[in-house]
Amino acid sequence: MEDDFRRLFDGIHAQTLAAMEKDLARISSLPELLAVTQAALQHTTRTLSSITESAGVKTACSSGCSFCCWHRVDAPAHEILLAARYIRAHWTQEEIDALRRAARQRAEEELRMDYAQRQRSIRPCVLLEENICRIYPVRPGACRRYFSGSIDACHRLWEDPQAEAAVGIPLLSDAGHAAGSAMLRAFAAAGYDHYFYDLSAALAEALEDEACEQRWFAKQAAFSADARTLMPPPGPPAPVIHSW
Ligand code: SF4
Repeated sequence: MEDDFRRLFDGIHAQTLAAMEKDLARISSLPELLAVTQAALQHTTRTLSSITESAGVKTACSSGCSFCCWHRVDAPAHEILLAARYIRAHWTQEEIDALRRAARQRAEEELRMDYAQRQRSIRPCVLLEENICRIYPVRPGACRRYFSGSIDACHRLWEDPQAEAAVGIPLLSDAGHAAGSAMLRAFAAAGYDHYFYDLSAALAEALEDEACEQRWFAKQAAFSADARTLMPPPGPPAPVIHSW
């Protein structure tokens, strides 16, 4: 059984990598590059749905439940730039300004925290409104591959992020990681920024300055070093809920 899963994850990784490499080789514009990112994320979602169905996996997730959206999210540059484009295209200027202020404030608060404090902080994502994700069609890969097997466990972790609670469904998170790591590997091999960034901090920068996406397309770092995800300190790892 373990070998079957290994083959499944290896197959997802290889297929995603081959498709991404082919797409990246033919692309000549920024919108095309972000369209490829969106298509790859949508493909990941379809793959996870198909595994859920064929393996008879029962998840505890449902629309309007947002416990997991209170844990911080890390995402690569291409996913954050895709979200920023979506927001610019679909939100009013007032809404964008309000989001920019909220994301900037969150980023400044996070800057004053060390790694462990960041991992322990429980606050609603700046993109969550009335328990619904406002960028659902372009939500980051970390949000797409996070499934819960137990609402009680989600609730316990929401109350105390250091609680002992088995939330995730390894089959789905490992399959999602296989696709996400292939995407990242393809972008890295093509020379694009492949750092992980704090979603709020990098989104604030993307909404403040459209040059972020031009820098990314020019194969430079899209966001500032302050927005990069902090690496864990040496020693026992702090609990990571919603990133990889
Ligand atoms: S981006 Fe959307 S799905 Fe992800 S944590 Fe924020 S509100 Fe939730």
